[in-house]
Formats: sequence, structure tokens, C-alpha cells
Amino acid sequence: MHIRKQRLLTPGPTPLYPPAMHAMMASDIHHRTQDFRNVYAAALADLKEVLGTSNDVLMFAASGTGGMDASVSNLFSRGDKVIVCCAGKFGERWVEIAKAYGLDATVLKVEYGDAVSVSAVRAALDAEPSTKGVFVQASETSTGAAHDIQGMAAAVAATDAILVVDGITGIGTMPLDIDGWGIDVLIGGSQKSFMIPPGLAFLSVSKKAWTLSETATLPHFYFDLKKEKKNADKGESTWTPATSLILALGEALKYVKGLGMANLVANAQLLALAARAACTELGLELFAPGSPGSSVTSVKAPKGMDSSVIVKELRTRFGAIITNGQGSMKGRIFRIAHLGYFDFWDLFAMVAGLETILYANGIPVEFGRGVAAVQRVYAGAAIQLPVAVG
Ligand SMILES: *Cc1c(COP(=O)(O)O)cnc(C)c1O
Repeated sequence: MHIRKQRLLTPGPTPLYPPAMHAMMASDIHHRTQDFRNVYAAALADLKEVLGTSNDVLMFAASGTGGMDASVSNLFSRGDKVIVCCAGKFGERWVEIAKAYGLDATVLKVEYGDAVSVSAVRAALDAEPSTKGVFVQASETSTGAAHDIQGMAAAVAATDAILVVDGITGIGTMPLDIDGWGIDVLIGGSQKSFMIPPGLAFLSVSKKAWTLSETATLPHFYFDLKKEKKNADKGESTWTPATSLILALGEALKYVKGLGMANLVANAQLLALAARAACTELGLELFAPGSPGSSVTSVKAPKGMDSSVIVKELRTRFGAIITNGQGSMKGRIFRIAHLGYFDFWDLFAMVAGLETILYANGIPVEFGRGVAAVQRVYAGAAIQLPVAVG
């Protein structure tokens, strides 16, 4: 027998920021009191600051998909022409939501692991000038690929359409300049880079998007952006808010503000760079080599090995919970997460564990080779000793 500590290392839910977890215990508070209004208003203001936007930022008690649903049901009408970029399981979710609400969607589909190009979006916009919206994932978590949001925003800004970005794992792993680039709706979720449990969805809403909402006729009730905005301006949420999560969010946002959003992004990007270097050094093939994002690194299992074995043995041997591929990618890839509260210590251990498991399954590995690649990235980045450990 030996000790195995359980560690949650998936790309959502992500590892929890301990002070945020502790803050949840103070949730014996009523939401229609000034005490809570202060907490709620501060969380919304900090969220806006961290996202770096002057657009309205609203919050719902929902998983991230609730934010996606709200953006469709509040801003569009049945039969509206839209363009959906579909590069994986989350792009497929946009397609399903558009279908559920009766939108007339042109789907720009690429192979899993690839990204939809800006030129494809531009061509689709040119072909259909009455397009009302373009939907895309900043980071397609199912494959690890990232989209060129800045390029897409420039293409969409020149039209009457709005750009709706599922930034649920893009936020905190890539620059997303909402105001500078013209991202009309950016959606986030609490269990990704925000380092707290699932249950909160966020949305930023631009003036252009609000204008579209004036003529939108799709039905909605719980997710009502206008009502939510009216209440948020008074420090209230329309329905009973997820008080414990909002207390946690307040602590996490304090941490992110101290760190700086740019540094949170740089952290994920450096870890992703090191993970790619380690996998390459171990002779493993990356799944999205053309446009790798920094939320997750998707890696193909070695020839003749099912990736489920790697996922299972990381858990059974080391208590480390990571994710397999989704859908048809299951068994073919495994995913190493970097978003939110991940650090180099996590990656050293992940790569060492991976080497150990490959070896145990008869794959030739030279122990330490992948770890050394991570160490070289760390050393090369000249990371300064932190002033305070958070
Ligand atoms: C996690 C995630 C979502 C939201 O999924 P929920 O289960 O509803 O939280 C949406 N898009 C992407 C890209 C994600 O990674």
C-alpha cells in the first residue's frame, strides 16, 4: 500500500483555488440584503475588470452552456441566418442550440484537430449578407485547437452580424480583447480558468448585440439578458443567485486581479508550450498541431495503445484525474489541461507519471526525457521567484 492523493487535473472542472473554496463556507447569507448586494456588485465589477471590457457583463446560475443558450434565445429570431464554426464537440453544441431554436445555420465544419479559418468565415459572410450572427469557440476544448478570434472579429465587424464567442476555455488561455477587437458576446464559465466549481455562466454584451436584442423574438424566460441587466445595475440578480459560488468567485477574481489577466494567460501558454515539448520529446504525436491552444494539450496515444489506459492508470496509480477524448476521439487522445490554477509542479508530475505509465505498458521510454523538456522550458523562461505564494 502507498498513499495516492486525489488531484483534479481536468480542463473543467479545474483545480480549485483554496481561498475561494474557504469563502464558500460563508454562504449563510440572504441574497436580498445589502451585504450580499455589495458582494454581487463587486464580483460583477471585478469580472468586468478582469475581462478588460466596458461592455455589460452579466452572470447566470448555470453551467457554461446556459450562457450559450442565453446568447441565442435573447439575440435572435426564428429563421435568422447564422454561421456556426464547428471544429469539435463544443462547435457541435452551437449547431444543436441553433437547431433547437430554429435558426438557419450555415455550418463551417472542419476535421477534429483543425480550426475554421478566417477566410472561410469571410467567404460565408460574403455569400450571405443578411447573416445575423457568427458563432465560434475561442478554444475548442474537445480537440485542443484554438481559433483566430481577432481575425474573425475583424471580418464580422465589417457586417451587420454579431460575433458570439464561446470563450469558456479561451478566457485565461489566450488574449481576448473584447472592446479592441469587437467581440459582441463573450461567454465564460466558473469551472474553467476561474478556478472555482461549476455553476456560474458569464456573458459580456456589446451595444451591437443589445441593438439586435431589440428586434429578437425567440422565447426565453429564465435567461433574460435585459431583465438581468436591470437587476445587476442594482446589485441584484433576477432569480436566487448561487451565493456560495459568487463568494468563491469574489476570492478567485481578487487573485486573478493581483496576478493580472495577461499573466494568467502567459502561465497557461507557457505550460502548454512545455507540455508540447515534453510530448514531442517522448515521441508522442500532438492532435491539433496546426493551431494548438493553451487550455489543453491533446495528445495521441502511442500506436497500439488505447488512450483510456493512460487516463485510467493516471487515476489508479497516481490519483490524477485527466480527460480522455470525447465522442469518436475517445480512446485515441488524452488531454493535459493548463487553464486556471495549474503550475509547473503539476506539469512536472504529470509528465513523470505519463512516462511511468508508458513504460509500464511496454512503450519504450527513457525516464526523465519528457520531464527534462519541461525543465528546459521553465529554465528558459527565467521565471522569477514569486513575492507571495497564493
Ligand atoms: C466546458 C465548456 C463548455 C461548457 O460546458 P458546460 O458543461 O455547460 O459547463 C462550453 N464550451 C467549451 C469550449 C467548454 O470547454
